Amino acid sequence: MKIIMLGAPGAGKGTQAKMIAEKYGIPHISTGDIFRANIKNGTQLGMEAKQYMDQGLLVPDELTVKILLDRVAREDCAGGYVLDGFPRTIPQAEVLDEALTAQNEKIDYAIDVDVPDENIVKRMSGRRACLKCGATYHLEHIPPRTEGICDSCGSGLVLRDDDRPETVLNRLKVYHDQTQPLIDYYSRKKILRTVDGTMDMQDVFHAITAILG
Ligand code: ADP
Ligand code: ADP
Ligand code: ZN
Repeated sequence: MKIIMLGAPGAGKGTQAKMIAEKYGIPHISTGDIFRANIKNGTQLGMEAKQYMDQGLLVPDELTVKILLDRVAREDCAGGYVLDGFPRTIPQAEVLDEALTAQNEKIDYAIDVDVPDENIVKRMSGRRACLKCGATYHLEHIPPRTEGICDSCGSGLVLRDDDRPETVLNRLKVYHDQTQPLIDYYSRKKILRTVDGTMDMQDVFHAITAILG
């Protein structure tokens, strides 16, 4: 099963994608996580991506598409995957579709996790991330067992640079301009499913598994 997660930054795509990946035994692929790992390791790609990410802008399609296509070509993706944060532009979606069509494959579902802008800034300021393993927490809604420490790997948790309120507003604007058009794109392909992302995490997951079966 091949699944795309759509939704504003902070809507809960990553949280749900991890749960989907575990339940269905498929890899969770986050382009944001791939970029952050590259930044942490000081690679050329990381240095280029960081310039855009810090401003709340999208990393250019040329860079992003190649990384994603390489990743989904790996063996662990043969049985499907859940994409979190890709595609974020119409050209990205078109390149993915072309690559899949060439192999007689297709995306099964695009799941839009719908959360109004008013809720987003609050979610982001409370988000704490583990840059080592990619786990995400929320100070109020989804706290770690020990304050400031990742449940999964024991590393320290941080407020991401791009989760500061000034940058979040830029990211929301970029989302509405460049990413939201994908909702129509997948709706026309009849694979769009929308879930109410304001519910609590388990209820959102329940709504998603009702769709995926
Ligand atoms: P969030 O989960 O909060 O939406 P991500 O971790 O998905 O954030 O992405 C963080 C940043 O990484 C984005 O703001 C953008 O700069 C960059 N990025 C991630 N995925 C893509 C993509 N598919 N295209 C362009 N830029 C991306
Ligand atoms: P995205 O990947 O869409 O940017 P995340 O999954 O990282 O979003 O979630 C953003 C923040 O909101 C995180 O701090 C996360 O712990 C929290 N969160 C996720 N789902 C919910 C939910 N259903 N209710 C409240 N907070 C949530
Ligand atoms: Zn961790």
